Amino acid sequence: MQDLAVGYGGNNSRYQEEKRTVAHKEVGPLISMEEMARCIHCTRCVRFGQEVAGVMELGMLGRGEHAEITTFVGNTVNSELSGNMIDLCPVGAITSKPYRYSARNWELSRRKSVSAHDSLGSNLIVQVKGNEVMRVLPFENEEVNDCWISDRDRFAYEGLKSEDRVTEPMVKRDGKWTAVSWDEAFTYVVEQLKAIKGRVGADKIGALASNASTVEELYMLKALTNGLGSTHIDTNLRQSDDNLAGALQGTPWLGMPITAFSDVHVALVVGSNLREEHPLLAARLRQAVKRNAKVNVLGASAGDLLMAARQNALAPSAWLSELLAIEAALSASDANDVSFAAQTARHLSDPRAKNKAVMVGNAVMNHPQAAQLLTVINRIAAATVSTVSILTEGANTVGAYAVGAVAKNGSLNAVQMFNAPRDAYVLLNVEPQFESANPAQALKALSGAFVVAMNAYFSAVSDYADVILPVAPFTETAGTFVNAEGRSQAFNPVVKPRGQSRPAWKVLRVLAERFGLSNDGSFAANDINDVRVLTDKVIASAVANQSNVVDVEVVVGQVSAGIERSARVAAYAADAITRRAESLQQTDMAQSAHVVGLSAAMYDALGLTKDLANDEAWVVVEQDGLKVKAQAVLRPELAGNVVDIQQGSPLAAQLGSQFGSVTVERA
Ligand code: SF4
Repeated sequence: MQDLAVGYGGNNSRYQEEKRTVAHKEVGPLISMEEMARCIHCTRCVRFGQEVAGVMELGMLGRGEHAEITTFVGNTVNSELSGNMIDLCPVGAITSKPYRYSARNWELSRRKSVSAHDSLGSNLIVQVKGNEVMRVLPFENEEVNDCWISDRDRFAYEGLKSEDRVTEPMVKRDGKWTAVSWDEAFTYVVEQLKAIKGRVGADKIGALASNASTVEELYMLKALTNGLGSTHIDTNLRQSDDNLAGALQGTPWLGMPITAFSDVHVALVVGSNLREEHPLLAARLRQAVKRNAKVNVLGASAGDLLMAARQNALAPSAWLSELLAIEAALSASDANDVSFAAQTARHLSDPRAKNKAVMVGNAVMNHPQAAQLLTVINRIAAATVSTVSILTEGANTVGAYAVGAVAKNGSLNAVQMFNAPRDAYVLLNVEPQFESANPAQALKALSGAFVVAMNAYFSAVSDYADVILPVAPFTETAGTFVNAEGRSQAFNPVVKPRGQSRPAWKVLRVLAERFGLSNDGSFAANDINDVRVLTDKVIASAVANQSNVVDVEVVVGQVSAGIERSARVAAYAADAITRRAESLQQTDMAQSAHVVGLSAAMYDALGLTKDLANDEAWVVVEQDGLKVKAQAVLRPELAGNVVDIQQGSPLAAQLGSQFGSVTVERA
């Protein structure tokens, strides 16, 4: 392939056209370059890589009539923003692989929506044919996503068409699933939950929801849970510090408008793989770096951020002491100290820098010492007049705080609900085996309880649920997401619910009626606007109460000397829809979640170097008595004692705590 890229440039013979087609077919699972005969060499795609995505994956070879746009680095396009080149190409030379040849433009209706896949809230145009989503494009909004969307936002729609969609209510009896009517399903749920409440009390009922559920859904779920007599509801399933909920003094948020990311002068990013978690925030920070912003990153790995940054890779248990070292360095003045802590402190203390931020990633919020980490981060920010910016995890994390669908004031959080198992769980849009701080513990608790699962996918919950109520994903329901900066964005359904699926807020309202809770004003809603009259008030109140301040006692404990997990969440396993998007799952980024990443030190220590060439590098990882065997790959960017088993992956689902210690042996 390489000689073709370098050597192409003769005449337009059919032979060379064929060779070119073969080469361009191999640019990855998301974009196609099979129509390059149309290319007019405008170089928009090349400049997008240089100027926005931060990586030149396409380049122009040859000159004049021999010029050719081709893959530049290797033969695949792997950027998390690659799909934007499809929109930029003025002649349709670059096309969407999943979409191409499936519809004509004039057959498509364009409908606005909001992305459910990260906390940015990218504005979308969803193109629909009949009742099927055919493709997703960006809707320009300079204040949110500009004119871009991530590949996750663009290609995740394939998950909406998955054969795994459950389209009718189902009840499990004697271990067998049977399709039933909605009426029968409601009757069964009400009978069982009433019986459990009567037998062990409402306190033994817990509700868990995805932080990508809409405000209206979470509002109704909270009202139903409280109406049943339980206070236990949580959407932060990956959080593992029991002190965090009580320590947060307000609604966590971005701390600044999204647009301000492009104007940051100094940033300290803690515990975030920005490119995977927030691809468009990473792109904005990249613009800031082009204007000489100084970016310092503390995390479990020092991966390629596609921007100039100073990185310090440490195991998660060492983050607290490193932050304390940065705090201590603020008052020291040794200009010769070139440690990460000292240099970061100098950057943050630079009086010429005006816009400074300490950015808090998902791994900090999910860390067992989250409250302490945030306390030190707040102290560093206060001492350097910087903003604390919590990047927030889900599309509606802020909305979940607004409606109170998080553990607070003595109610149990998700980890506690699994530690001290409930007798019944009501699940909304979650797959706890992929979205929990400790999948093994979650599965154990769920397997012994009565589980009502409101979900769009059968396999998501079929192993342990007793009832599945098919609910509509975000494209099939009206709803509202509140993004990381506190921006409330309402959207309408773009297609009708599939089969007998229903919007979850309606399902919850009917359930409330069946429980005799109709007198509760929360359920007096005939349409989505009635619900919004109620939710708009709580959103406004939560936005007015945004605060990232945490102030708890900091106790420096022993830094673990053992092998730790990286606490990274797989980019294309962040939510149920994305996990079922076939093309995304074929990308290198998604495939990396199916192997165990080892640091160079660990790789050598296990004597794996020789095996790598034979593709026989296999290891057994053990955690809390659970073992998983998997292929190992070398990840030199990892901290020496860190093993990368990505949360949300089938590998992680077989193990324990995302932050726990593990042992690794050669298989
Ligand atoms: Fe060719 Fe399209 Fe790239 Fe322009 S954007 S150089 S037309 S492939």
